[in-house]
Amino acid sequence: MCGIIGITGRKPAGTKLFEGLLALQHRGQDSAGALTADHTVHLKKGNGTVAAVFNQKNLARLTGTAGIGQVRYPTIGPGSPEDAQPFYVNHPFGIAMVHNGNVTNYADLRRELQSQDFRQLTSFSDVEPILNVFAEELDKTDLNRFNPASVFRAVRGVFGRVHGAYSVVALIHDRGLLAFRDPFGIRPLVFARQGREFAFASESVAFDRLGFRRFGDVAPGEAVFVDLRGRVHRRQVQRGTPRPCIFEFVYIARPDSVIDGIDVYEARLRLGERLAVEVARQGVQPDVVVPVPDTARPAASALASALGVQLREGLIKNRYIARTFIMHGQERRILSVRQKLNPVRSQVQGRDVMLVDDSIVRGTTSREIVQMVREAGARKVFLAITAPPLRFPCVYGIDMMTRGEFAARDLTVEQIRRVVNADALIYQTYPGLVAAVRGHSAVPGFCTACFDGRYPTGVSQRYLAQMERERRSWLE
Ligand code: SF4
Repeated sequence: MCGIIGITGRKPAGTKLFEGLLALQHRGQDSAGALTADHTVHLKKGNGTVAAVFNQKNLARLTGTAGIGQVRYPTIGPGSPEDAQPFYVNHPFGIAMVHNGNVTNYADLRRELQSQDFRQLTSFSDVEPILNVFAEELDKTDLNRFNPASVFRAVRGVFGRVHGAYSVVALIHDRGLLAFRDPFGIRPLVFARQGREFAFASESVAFDRLGFRRFGDVAPGEAVFVDLRGRVHRRQVQRGTPRPCIFEFVYIARPDSVIDGIDVYEARLRLGERLAVEVARQGVQPDVVVPVPDTARPAASALASALGVQLREGLIKNRYIARTFIMHGQERRILSVRQKLNPVRSQVQGRDVMLVDDSIVRGTTSREIVQMVREAGARKVFLAITAPPLRFPCVYGIDMMTRGEFAARDLTVEQIRRVVNADALIYQTYPGLVAAVRGHSAVPGFCTACFDGRYPTGVSQRYLAQMERERRSWLE
């Protein structure tokens, strides 16, 4: 899970990249980086949050009116400083790149590129193969007659050779800013313009900070190139089959974002309304509905009003602890839950409490929360989840890579209920999830692979087994 941004226009880009990255910070806290260009390129990147990596002094060195940036959370491995983005190659022209996603033929591409004397990779980041393939494909065009068509040809080459999910923003030095999205559009990529200023970002929330008011999406399989004169060239490089990640709307994206034409906050309200239908169908009657902060809050409020039950903030979050879902190590996660959340005794004591959360990944977090609310005096604790059970690994850049990690991998709902020790466990239905997220949008389908195992790009058992091995060795 990463957040990316690119900006080009007539005003200095450095501070804007910083502002945009701050708005995307929820997508990754492991590393942050930005690169700008004027007569030369300026790069600053490192491990840590945006505020930890950037300061007034290094931001002042990010001169130029165009630039790209990234915040990163690693999907495999602990994430070394060498893996921080952006990455840069000198030839042709000088190209810098950031991405969000996961390349599923990374190992093959790495071998292929490393076998060439002039392409040595310097990290284990999968943006490096994308960047090198793009550079190679661009190099095949007539560089003396560089034009948008050369860029689109090179992107077509990338689509042919790079598999998996990737949304990309690249700066071609002295030529322009490029963005493209894989033909399934699994990871989001939004495009905004305001007069002669242009920006791309993982989520529209980045534009709010920058004052952009009008935006749309880069379509799956599309490339958008903004040249130095501010002319926008768009090309559907490959026919797209839209399958945006449905989990963005459940958990990942900020609720104040709009991606793929879907308002994330409203999607979460609809998830709550759909979940209320399931709760009522199962005949579960809480006295009070309590959101597990923060992602589930809109869904919990919609569920409470659909059921005609009070909504109470019965769990208070310490905002200075990192998100549990993306912390490594079982013990760290359990400790973190107690550090992060605390029940409001007056709101749960003697009541039948329905907790609403967005997902159960390993079950340890949910079990701790249920236990905490019991200890605070709740009579019964029900758990309602705004999505169906997570059963399959994500191979597209979200940190839940092995089947072995899921509480629900081979268990029935009743068995999971016992794992989390709730008095009732109600999951969203699969049709409920899809209908709620889609709303009235035109999105024809979503990636729902972590719920149903249907990977839009197809994925071999060999790859899944290899992911499982790599991830297990990292977690051990
Ligand atoms: S597998 Fe799940 S988390 Fe991964 S891209 Fe698909 S829907 Fe999103």
